[in-house]
Amino acid sequence: MRVVSEISELKKTISDWRQNKETIGFCPTMGTLHEGHMDLVRQSKNKATKTIVSIFINPTQFNDPKDFAAYPKNTEQDLRLCEENAVDLVFLPTVEVMYPPTNTPIQMTIPYLQNTLCGKTRPGHFEGVLQVVSKLFHLTEADFSFFGLKDYQQFRIISALVTELNFPLQIIGVPTKRESDGLAMSSRNLRLSQKDRETATLVPRMFQLAKKTLAGGERNLNVWKEILTDFLLTGSNVKIDYLEVVDPMSLQPITTLQGEVLLATAVFVGEVRLIDNEILVCPPVSK
Ligand code: AMP
Repeated sequence: MRVVSEISELKKTISDWRQNKETIGFCPTMGTLHEGHMDLVRQSKNKATKTIVSIFINPTQFNDPKDFAAYPKNTEQDLRLCEENAVDLVFLPTVEVMYPPTNTPIQMTIPYLQNTLCGKTRPGHFEGVLQVVSKLFHLTEADFSFFGLKDYQQFRIISALVTELNFPLQIIGVPTKRESDGLAMSSRNLRLSQKDRETATLVPRMFQLAKKTLAGGERNLNVWKEILTDFLLTGSNVKIDYLEVVDPMSLQPITTLQGEVLLATAVFVGEVRLIDNEILVCPPVSK
């Protein structure tokens, strides 16, 4: 496995690969890797002949400097996990490599998909994601890139970027990997105290309750959201950032519980912000 920090080194390896007619799968990450990230790697290895993982805590996508400062770092363990999973190259750039002091800042935005969910409560976040991901797509010359559906809005925004601007690669969504108690794996889980880690299971249990109440015939959107909100707030240390029901494609709010809906939430458990979502199919109500 090659570990490179400089763009010139990355370009050299990719050019060699291209000469050998290799195909490139790319998994962008911010490190503190876990089995959810490795699912991306496994899918990449099935699809492409070479797999690149980038590890870069991108400062431009953090709207809260405290969150950026507290974001965990675990490079040694990350490299070990990549090696064990037969990643071909890890791109590990510094902030200066990605954004040299002489750079002219560029702001990208897809307003229609950003005016909702995390885009509403984390202003500037997706602008930073679009900037870094566009840059990484060009640097890695990826044929395929893999994104977790845990960050569903990010997946939709990157898919739109690639479609609308004809980026020459395919975006592939990877299902959310969960701990045995249902909590979505996340690098941020490490920051939860033992008590908050227990409280955090309210999130996956809320999705179970959502399905159960739908199956039980609940179709009043406001009543349904209230039941789910009240359930989350049984956790003493929980603050809801948002709990929304939107159309899975447009991400715009829906008014009736029919067909496929995306239930998405962001909650603070203590200081730690956790997100999760599920696409639910509302079963027809029997008369
Ligand atoms: P991050 O390092 O949190 O920026 O995540 C890097 C990539 O891994 C993103 O595409 C995430 O959606 C994906 N990812 C993170 N956690 C999970 C998970 N539990 N299951 C599947 N994909 C994930």
